[in-house]
Amino acid sequence: MVVQTTAAAAVVLAVGAFLIVFWLGPGIGAALVTAGAVVVAVVVAAVGFVLFKLREGPKDAEVVAAYLPVLTAEWSQAAEEAKRLSGAGDVVDRDVLTGHLWAAEQVLFNQEAPVRTADGITRASGHIAEARYLLAVAEALGRGGPRPHRGAPCFFDPAHGPLTDKVRFNPEGGADRTVSACGSCRALVEAGKVPPSKQVVVGGIPTDYWRAGRVSVPYVDGYWQQRRFPDHELHRLRRDLKLTWDPAETELPAHLDREPPWYAG
Ligand SMILES: [Zn+2]
Repeated sequence: MVVQTTAAAAVVLAVGAFLIVFWLGPGIGAALVTAGAVVVAVVVAAVGFVLFKLREGPKDAEVVAAYLPVLTAEWSQAAEEAKRLSGAGDVVDRDVLTGHLWAAEQVLFNQEAPVRTADGITRASGHIAEARYLLAVAEALGRGGPRPHRGAPCFFDPAHGPLTDKVRFNPEGGADRTVSACGSCRALVEAGKVPPSKQVVVGGIPTDYWRAGRVSVPYVDGYWQQRRFPDHELHRLRRDLKLTWDPAETELPAHLDREPPWYAG
């Protein structure tokens, strides 16, 4: 499509140049054609540069600076909850839960690891999402409830765990949309309140994570995996960057060969 359009435009420009030279004579005609060619080249270069920039992925340093603190806090909370599960019965596969926490830990706390990149942020959030789901299963089954649905995480704060329902959300300055919500956020929406969105600091300014644009794509991709993200702009960025973390393709580390981590239970 791009090739055909470019070829057609080149033919039109060549014919136009020929007609200008034909009508105005070789002197002024050639000067006009040269000036026109320079303008066209500059415009094409500018458009190409903008398109290239739009397709470019987020910068590793920017993503890590914004999301390392967020994920470190989310990981610590999940690990504490996993530790508290000790002795609460084997309602979930503890090795799988510990494996996801261990894998996320390797990304977040290993200073030497080459995974301190945007891709590492996706993997860490993906592992935390898996751990969060298993913790929700353990909590629900532990109190005799049904097994939670393995759907998208809570839109307002993915670290709240998997959704219990979908709600309508009409954010200030954003489009009305249907989003996944955990039990507490759903209750807030039903009471006419707006659940606070997870905050991320970008360029020194705290902002709703889903309004932070490309910086948030790796984090969202880990949590949402193959699912559609309920913010059109961020979902489009994800699609353009063609990211989708798949836990099925991830081998969990054989942590049990070593000293079990403190949250292993
Ligand atoms: Zn929530």
